[in-house]
Amino acid sequence: MQVEGACHCGAVSFTAHVDPDRVMVCHCSDCQVLSGAPLRAVVAAPYESLVVTGPTKSYVKVAQSGNRRAQVFCPECGTPLWATAPENPTSVVIRLGCVKQRALFEPAVQIWQHSAMPWVTRLASVPASPQQQAFLPAAPPTGAA
Ligand SMILES: [Zn+2]
Ligand SMILES: [Zn+2]
Repeated sequence: MQVEGACHCGAVSFTAHVDPDRVMVCHCSDCQVLSGAPLRAVVAAPYESLVVTGPTKSYVKVAQSGNRRAQVFCPECGTPLWATAPENPTSVVIRLGCVKQRALFEPAVQIWQHSAMPWVTRLASVPASPQQQAFLPAAPPTGAA
């Protein structure tokens, strides 16, 4: 399926042909730190299907196993975009958050569950607001007796 993506500031945009069956959630601690989120959702695409407009920057993450992954992001706004092998990439793992059609995709698998936030499975029961609201309920008035 053809998708469009962009970073938050718009300096980088891209298209790719993703495989809707290869959507994954990763709970590993590297994804938590690198995404700034409690988990990361990604979708895979062949590297040759990726067409990029605008400048990107990458940070090569070295895993304990020695495996190296280029983490590609917008140099202006820092939006994480995708990861690839640093040399001779054949596939690209696109960060679902920067894909315009992201709501159409559902994960087929979750990995690194052992480092998942303990509340992830309870999220559906957390009180929810349809839009922005104050972070915490307003404190009760003081001095009211
Ligand atoms: Zn940007
Ligand atoms: Zn991960």
